[in-house]
Amino acid sequence: MKRFLQNIAIFGAIASALAVSIYTVSGHPVLAHTVSESQNSNENTSENSSKNIADITLIHAGNVLAIAGQSPKKNQTIIILDGNIMGIEDGFLQDDEANIIDLSEYFVLPGLIDSHVHITHEWNPNIRLDGVTKEAGDVAYDAAENAQKTLMAGFIAVQDVGGPKEVFALKRAIAAGKIPGPHIRAAGRAVSVTGGHGDRHGYIESILKIQSQDTICDGADDCRRATRAAIKAGADIIKITATGGVLSNTNAGTEQQFFDDELVAIVETAQTMGRKVTAHAHGKGGIESALNAGVKSIEHGTYMDAGTAALFRKYDATLVPTVIAGMTVVDWANNTDWLPPNSAQKALEVGPQMQSMLKLAWENGVTIAFGTDSGVSKHGENAQEFIYMVEAGMSEMDAIKAATLTAAKHIEMNDKIGSLEAGKYADLIAVKGNPLESIEELLDIDFVMKGGIVYKNK
Ligand SMILES: [Zn+2]
Repeated sequence: MKRFLQNIAIFGAIASALAVSIYTVSGHPVLAHTVSESQNSNENTSENSSKNIADITLIHAGNVLAIAGQSPKKNQTIIILDGNIMGIEDGFLQDDEANIIDLSEYFVLPGLIDSHVHITHEWNPNIRLDGVTKEAGDVAYDAAENAQKTLMAGFIAVQDVGGPKEVFALKRAIAAGKIPGPHIRAAGRAVSVTGGHGDRHGYIESILKIQSQDTICDGADDCRRATRAAIKAGADIIKITATGGVLSNTNAGTEQQFFDDELVAIVETAQTMGRKVTAHAHGKGGIESALNAGVKSIEHGTYMDAGTAALFRKYDATLVPTVIAGMTVVDWANNTDWLPPNSAQKALEVGPQMQSMLKLAWENGVTIAFGTDSGVSKHGENAQEFIYMVEAGMSEMDAIKAATLTAAKHIEMNDKIGSLEAGKYADLIAVKGNPLESIEELLDIDFVMKGGIVYKNK
């Protein structure tokens, strides 16, 4: 049975005071088809500010998981205007003039969010040459390709936690609608100690000199300077490498690398400029010192234990587990000659721990935000992390929540993304089957809409 748009008062977010009323008389859809952008319906609206039913998109969705954690609903209409969700109504609303998208055979859910990517590059056997052979333009084109792959995989937003400044140009180009890609929140260059995980290693002296970065710091004062330099370059969030890491070509281990006073200096400096700090950290001591210094989230978290989990809860901190990164580097260490010996050894130590770490963290009540470290694994294969999350004991619903509501809050974009609600961006995806029954559905996304624009419709 057809239902027509009738007397639905939809309060959206196109403009702060926009109140939209849609009146359609059955059989006479010409009536009252002007949507006023003024609160006062008696005011004349100019040509520019008036909206028509033809500007509205109605998505007929067979199933909708609007908010992860709540039950999905059958046969819903998602009403979209100017790239925003105006409301979700029961049944399949009809209108002769509205643009209707038929997803009645599909399961619709909020667009996915990856809290840990490196969108400007992807690991390959020649990556150590890329840094001295690729021009800025080459990096930007690589980044654009990676961004498109990420969006097509259903990820409508990412947090980029470390890489060259081209990420900021990419972010601007996507926001301006020049190229397809996810919303980006970016750190730019990571703040690291001299010789630490975020520094350069294993090149001759002259090459190391031209690769020097102003986010490398030693001592609390210098770390204040480095944090400010990162923010000056455009950082939305400060990324620090609190411990050693696998892919830096050095045998400096995977434990704490900053002194406690340096960590506090970074967190306080970031706070003065309205930024939070997220820390790459494998070793238990490095994770705990970062949390105690006021770092709000930990990337990887490999060697945490139940005591560390209690600290996460105490500080209401978030863990981004990146199990797929661990799986990927173990595969390389065992099956390729891609890694220098220093990295191969660390990969075989760290990688196998990561899924059991996630299980421990989840069982101990740690808040988990979805993240992959894509750029280690391939861009566009981000959803593989869901498989590892469910294997580690998270329910399908909890894994989806980690990649929607929780990740949106973690990257401080939950006013616009993370759920399908009036006033949020029309950023949504659809799959054929039910991902709450089979998480593998998310490996192959059939439909992607971002900002009301359809980017993929198989
Ligand atoms: Zn990373």
